Formats: sequence, C-alpha cells, structure tokens
Amino acid sequence: MAITARARELKSSGRDVIGFGAGEPDFDTPEHIRDAAVRAIAAGQTRYTNVGGTDLLKKTICEKFRRDNGIQYEQSEVTASNGGKQVRFNLFLATLNPGDEVLLPTPAWVSYTEMIRFAGGTPVPIYAGPDQGYLITPEQLRAAITPKTRMFILNSPCNPTGATFSKQELSAICDVLLEHPEVLIASDDISEHIIFDGLRFYNPVMLAPDLKDRCFLINGVSKAYSMTGWRIGIGAGPAEIVASMEKIQGQCSSNPSSVSQAAAVAALGEDQECVEQMRQAFQERRDLVYRMLQSFDGVQTVEPRGAFYIFPDVSAIYEWPRFQSLLKADLPRSNVFCAHLLDHYDVAAVPGAAFGDDRALRISYALDEASLRKGLERLGNMINDLR
Ligand code: PLP
Repeated sequence: MAITARARELKSSGRDVIGFGAGEPDFDTPEHIRDAAVRAIAAGQTRYTNVGGTDLLKKTICEKFRRDNGIQYEQSEVTASNGGKQVRFNLFLATLNPGDEVLLPTPAWVSYTEMIRFAGGTPVPIYAGPDQGYLITPEQLRAAITPKTRMFILNSPCNPTGATFSKQELSAICDVLLEHPEVLIASDDISEHIIFDGLRFYNPVMLAPDLKDRCFLINGVSKAYSMTGWRIGIGAGPAEIVASMEKIQGQCSSNPSSVSQAAAVAALGEDQECVEQMRQAFQERRDLVYRMLQSFDGVQTVEPRGAFYIFPDVSAIYEWPRFQSLLKADLPRSNVFCAHLLDHYDVAAVPGAAFGDDRALRISYALDEASLRKGLERLGNMINDLR
C-alpha cells in the first residue's frame, strides 16, 4: 500500500507510472453485485446487523462452502468481517497465547508476521525458494513443528508468489498435520478461484475431513469478485472459535457494512460467470508476464499457478557492479532495486523483503495488457542499463 501511495503521488505530479504494486483486481465490481447494494440502500438495510453478519449472509456463506468446496457448515460455524484481513486478526486474537509458535511458509503475505506478533504469537518462517517452486515440503513442515507450535498457516494460491499446491502436494502436507492433532490450521483461501491451467483448488478440509475440527478457512469477496473496497471477508471453522472471534469483533467494529453484506450475498450466491471471466483474463496476463520475464538476464522466475502475482528472483543482478554502486547500508537490496525502478523507470513493484525474501520483488499483474507490456519493457531496460 505504501508503494501504491508513492506511485499515486508520482502520477499526480505528472509522471506516467505503471503500478505493479496493488494487490487488487483492476476490474469493476460486476453490475449485478453493485445493483444488489443499491437495492439494499433503497430498502433501508442501513442499520446494525448481527456482529458476524445477517442470517441471509451466513446462509449464503454456508451455501458457498457446500457448492465450491463440498464442506457442510452450520451458521454457527461461519462468520463475516471487514475483509479477510479482519477475519485473520480475529482468529489470531482468539486462538494465540504469548509464546505460541505459528508456522508461516515464507515468502508470505506481509500482514501475517505483524498480526501474529500483535496477538502475542511468535512467527516461525518456513522458507521455500524458487528452486522448490516456492512450495514448502512435508519434510520441512515436520521438522518445524515443536511442542510450542500452535498453528500452521497455509496460503494457496499464495500472495506473493502465486505458488499453488496440487492435490497430491497438499495431501502430503495434510498427512503431516494429521500426525499432530495439537496444531490448528489456518487456510487462507482468498484466491481460490484465481487458479490456472486446469489445476483444481483444494484446502485441507477438502482433502482430509478429519482436520475439519481444527482447521479454520479464511476467504472473502475481495479478489474473486473484484470487491476490495467493500470490505467483506468470511471465515469458517469450529463454532467455539467463531464465537470468540465474534466477541472480539463485537468490541472492535461490530458488523461489517450492512450494504456490503447485501452485495456479498449477491456475489457469493448468484451467477458465478463473472468469476470465470476474470480468471481467464488473469491467466492470459500471467502468460504474458511470465514469458517476458523469462527473457530478461539475471531473473529467475517460477511460473505462478494462481492468484495474480509473480515473484521474480533478481538476486543474480545484486552481484552486478552497477547495482552494487546503488546499495545503501541500511536498506534491503530488494528495496534498493524497487526504489531505483520507481524513481528512474516509473514502475512500482513491491520489494521481496516485505514478504520475507529479499532476493525477489513482487509484481501484481492485475493490469491491462498494454500497461503490463510497458511496465515490463521498462524493467527490461533497467536490467540492460545495469548490465
Ligand atoms: N490474505 C491474502 C493472502 C491477501 O493477499 C490479501 C489481500 O491482499 C488479504 C488476505 C486481504 O484480503 P481482504 O481484502 O479481504 O482483507
């Protein structure tokens, strides 16, 4: 968000900045969803609702999990918050005690580490680099579990790498989790519908139903329905945890916007064609971005299987003398790389250090094709100039 703000600032000063920073789809929210919100306003749905969402929204959430994931939840086992972000926050506050270790496959979404710390937990990164497709192995997971491990976080498709577990790969991870009944699982499924090349989405409950009573599913409408500004996240898991989360939310923000809830009912409950259209557009963009990045010197790229991010490893370029002359003692190298890219080539990307991997940068390809080409050509120019 800081990078996007800086890019906006440069844009307003007249610079033609290409923004690869934003973690949000560039499409308008589909019309039938916007219409549902307008109808809700006209019908006077403008008051407080139950803290965790209206009965209708909860019913629709249960239906979503049944339809998309084949999992049966009661209304007491689902909840809605101000974005997936608040779902996670509530979850950590409700379940973590000081000293609890939380296993975090890394690179990981920026907010996880800070949220875990805020709740008193200790983030324990499990690093998976490009050589292993940015996916942790069952052996790495097994080795990281200690008597203090309270939770394991899964985010597939992953922000920032786009790495996505196949059914077989995730089954092997679930087998390790089944050996450790004391470990809770938080599965961040926010990008479940943005998945490529015919790969199917799975979360741990779908593959190992025995994990259901200690797995919490986090999801939302931000990414799949292009609704980042509406702030509706959803969660599903044990009723006891849901009740604690709603207690926290009740003292903090109460219900998410009643109007946004009505929009989320339309998004989750009505025609899903819009999701497929956006998915296809993302896949075409992924193809373009991956192809262009592969042609650059010094860049190692793993082809993303989902989400709308790509995480090229540029660490070979860090060794080039012209890049070394840019280094500043107190700044991670990916920050130097991205600052140079923004200040001299008008392209905003996010330093990998923010996600726990200084060797890379994150490019969000939620942009039209012409802008993607232009931005990547500029990145290519920077690399050539540094050569
Ligand atoms: N989780 C992950 C992995 C994300 O990438 C994002 C958005 O960037 C979020 C959560 C936040 O989603 P929301 O807009 O629903 O709060």
